[in-house]
Amino acid sequence: KAKESGRNTYTFYTTEITHTLFEKMLMENELRRAIDAQEFTLFYQPQIDMRTGKMMGVEALARWEHSGMGIIMPDKFIPLAEGTKLIIPIGRQLLEIACVQTKAWVDKGLCGPTWKTAVNISAIQITHDDLYEAVHAITQKTGLDPHYLELELTETYIMQNPKVARALMDKLKKLGITLAVDDFGIGYSSLSYLKQFPLDRLKVDRSFIRDIPEDLDDMAITKAILALGKSLGLEVLAEGVEDAVQKEFLLSQGCFLAQGYFYAAPVPAATLEKPQEKFSW
Ligand code: C2E
Ligand code: MG
Ligand code: MG
Ligand code: MG
Repeated sequence: KAKESGRNTYTFYTTEITHTLFEKMLMENELRRAIDAQEFTLFYQPQIDMRTGKMMGVEALARWEHSGMGIIMPDKFIPLAEGTKLIIPIGRQLLEIACVQTKAWVDKGLCGPTWKTAVNISAIQITHDDLYEAVHAITQKTGLDPHYLELELTETYIMQNPKVARALMDKLKKLGITLAVDDFGIGYSSLSYLKQFPLDRLKVDRSFIRDIPEDLDDMAITKAILALGKSLGLEVLAEGVEDAVQKEFLLSQGCFLAQGYFYAAPVPAATLEKPQEKFSW
């Protein structure tokens, strides 16, 4: 951008960088304080079987309930938490919250035998934390049967460290945890690699669903991912379903699982337990 519009913009650009670095320092201190104050929490977004309207599980999504600034979204703090590796203690806190909440739902009799609470895991947590040990310890501590837990990993991580990823995934699977590939289709996967991993689910990235039915290419890609999932024996869940047309298209293509604003945005646990219009427990 600076190149395009000349020197004045360049000055502005450096100022912007300085500003950002300063903000980052403040933010890092704030992250440390927030970990101690336990300000991180989870919202939950239903994952629906579109044929029946039944909730099959939820995705747990991080929120920062900042004492002065209100709710801060993950896009605003996860990247810095990853850069500073603070995602490790934050990720452990969030995993424990997800397990405690799911255990409470199970104890209330709300969850069927195939219920999944899906937790997002970033590459840093896999390469710089003993994720297996963390998951094992937290499920033990909270008393949650690990069968109710799903971990969402991204393509990029899996493909960058295939051997390490494979070993970790095998161990996690032995605990009974299921594994999903998040944002599928936007990273670089080798399809032949994919089948070597003990995966359970592909989550079609929201960008392919967003412009259905106007974008024919996106519809073709979505169909291709569904065919791929079918031939590899993987479940496919569509992310970001926002309207009935997208829902009907997906159903017509044999995609039954979805998440998106059409059904519900991510909400606090208590909100999810109130009667809902478009889905049921
Ligand atoms: P993600 O894992 O792909 O999560 C889906 C995101 O799409 C969520 O944004 C969700 O609110 C949003 N979404 C769901 N349905 C719709 C829809 O119909 N339309 C639109 N426009 N958006 C929809 P959110 O909660 O802001 O999270 C953003 C990203 O932050 C997540 O993307 C994930 O990559 C990351 N993230 C969230 N929580 C965690 C966490 O606990 N740990 C880690 N490592 N990353 C997290
Ligand atoms: Mg996710
Ligand atoms: Mg996603
Ligand atoms: Mg994402």
